[in-house]
Amino acid sequence: MSLPEAFVEKLSQIVPREQFQSILKTFDAPKQITFRVNTIKSSSKELESQLESANIPYERIGWMEGVYRIAPQDKLRLTQTDAFYGGKLYIQNLASMVAPLILAPCPEETVLDLAAAPGGKTLMLAGMMQNTGWLSAVEPTRERFFRLRANLEMQGVTNAHTYMTDGRSVGKKCPEMFDRIMLDAPCSSEARFKTHEPKSMSFWSIHKAKETSKLQRRLLLSAYDALKPGGKLLYCTCSFSPEENESPLQHLLERHGEHLITLPITLPFNNLQKPLKRWGKEVFDDRIQNAVRILPTDTIDGFFLCLLEKKVC
Ligand code: SAM
Repeated sequence: MSLPEAFVEKLSQIVPREQFQSILKTFDAPKQITFRVNTIKSSSKELESQLESANIPYERIGWMEGVYRIAPQDKLRLTQTDAFYGGKLYIQNLASMVAPLILAPCPEETVLDLAAAPGGKTLMLAGMMQNTGWLSAVEPTRERFFRLRANLEMQGVTNAHTYMTDGRSVGKKCPEMFDRIMLDAPCSSEARFKTHEPKSMSFWSIHKAKETSKLQRRLLLSAYDALKPGGKLLYCTCSFSPEENESPLQHLLERHGEHLITLPITLPFNNLQKPLKRWGKEVFDDRIQNAVRILPTDTIDGFFLCLLEKKVC
């Protein structure tokens, strides 16, 4: 199956012209498999020795400790290892690992994951917090909530508290409570499209991004309310659409811009693009230029990230 025509046309208006064709090819190719050691239950040394015993060739990802890449055909064997069954590793795209790395929670902090299931980022946040402090994980969809709970249990996370509730209500219930907030917002998942998996694109339409944008705006306002002065908020999506990235941030800055700064994001690879300065009739606040769009390759998915800090008054 091919990508929706309207999506291809829209994407051509977003990403740099020189990279457009190579980006299109990433939707066809099988992705390399990446995973990371679960530091709550294991170590790089132990995991590497288990991979060697299972005869699975791996490559270390140089810029992130305890993260590995294997060929797509070795995925099945990886999921048959004791390390996998014992929750000692977690298979995850590099783009998803970058988000907790940028939010950088510390042990003993109070952290909120506002759209948490199935929990890939929650698990990594818990590891970075060394299973200490307080980690709230919110997910309103029942089935996904229980999957989140099962993943947290399987991976030995004990500092997380899970809530089956709508993230839009959290800011008013928990004002200025959190040091760090992850908002990996529900989105049209454009960066997850795969031409060999028609289901990955079946819910997409040109209107989807606009609809989702409304929810994202309200989640961002809720996250802002829940953030302590001096606290940090990471907003991210796996969508290319400006309606889901620059626009919700613009809305937040229009409401609370005097209390917010954006922080520059530095990443150790080149497939990055600065946010758009305008889209349609919308002109975006200069502060949004500190956000970043990761352009997809055969190893990393497309992603959008913006790190904000609430000023101390
Ligand atoms: N952070 C997750 C991870 O790394 O595994 C992925 C999160 S996924 C991009 C977005 C999640 O937001 C979905 O599980 C979806 O069910 C949830 N969601 C949808 N509406 C929501 C709402 N109103 N409040 C909070 N979460 C919501």
